Amino acid sequence: MKYKYIFGPVPSRRLGVSLGVDLLKEKICNFNCVYCECGVSNKLFNERKEYVSINEVLNEIKDYLNKGNYLDFITFSGNGEPALHSKIGYLIKELKKITSTKICVITNSTLLNEKEVREEIMQADIIMPSLDAVSEDIFRKIDRASSKIKLSDIKDGIKKLSEEYKGKIWLEIFFIEGLNDTKEELDKFIEYLKDIKVDRIQLNSLDRPAPEKWVKAMSLNRLEEIKDYFSKELKNVEIIKKYKNKEDILGYTKDIENFILELIDRRPSTFEDMKEILKIQEIELNKYLEYLENNKMIKKVIENRGIFYKKILTKNND
Ligand code: SF4
Repeated sequence: MKYKYIFGPVPSRRLGVSLGVDLLKEKICNFNCVYCECGVSNKLFNERKEYVSINEVLNEIKDYLNKGNYLDFITFSGNGEPALHSKIGYLIKELKKITSTKICVITNSTLLNEKEVREEIMQADIIMPSLDAVSEDIFRKIDRASSKIKLSDIKDGIKKLSEEYKGKIWLEIFFIEGLNDTKEELDKFIEYLKDIKVDRIQLNSLDRPAPEKWVKAMSLNRLEEIKDYFSKELKNVEIIKKYKNKEDILGYTKDIENFILELIDRRPSTFEDMKEILKIQEIELNKYLEYLENNKMIKKVIENRGIFYKKILTKNND
């Protein structure tokens, strides 16, 4: 079966082996965040509806699960805001009947003030809401939300969720230097978050090129400073770290790394090519490619036959 709505699984520091589910297919979002990996939102969407056939999505997930591959999580993310899909609750309910794999919903929090939406997604095991600002002007600059959306509703929605939900809440804040990291804004974050019951507060910054060129990655040092500042008043604050050290990656071997580098040096290869030649699981291969890409040793290039991996010639991998 060729999949349209599911992707991965990808190795995730936060979720282990995670199968991604995209309930929208194209970018359907009520935000147009300056850092969005899906690119610019040409149009903003506020309506909840069945953007893609929920039964087709369910069938793909069933097909994948029937193969018996190991999974830690099924994660609703992808192109846009998954809670805009009106049948997300139905899908989670159906999945709970057929699998014990945990379910995670990543949301921009805009619909959490709606009781019906909260009830639907509260069937998941982890909810990752995001909150990029607590001041209206900064919120507008970063998230560039539809005019129908009010920051006060988002804050109320997260609070209600934290009071009602029995699962885990990992709240994510995406930091952009000079915008939402001023002392004033950090103090407002603390004031708001002190009253919210979340299990983790996760600090993030830019990982890939943003649609807006002026958005730059925040340094790890600055993120550490914010973490320390928050931690004086708030519990369980952490930085979302990407794979930077080989030691962080379970079972990483230099032999396979060298093999991949030599292979794509001789002939740029697709993911499928490498999987076939190396005879390793997707999850294993993803682990190496993610590390090599993060460390600028390889790059992806789109060609007619798909995405090819090529070696970058630098001192690191000479
Ligand atoms: S909420 Fe997510 S999908 Fe929507 S614009 Fe922001 S980053 Fe992109």
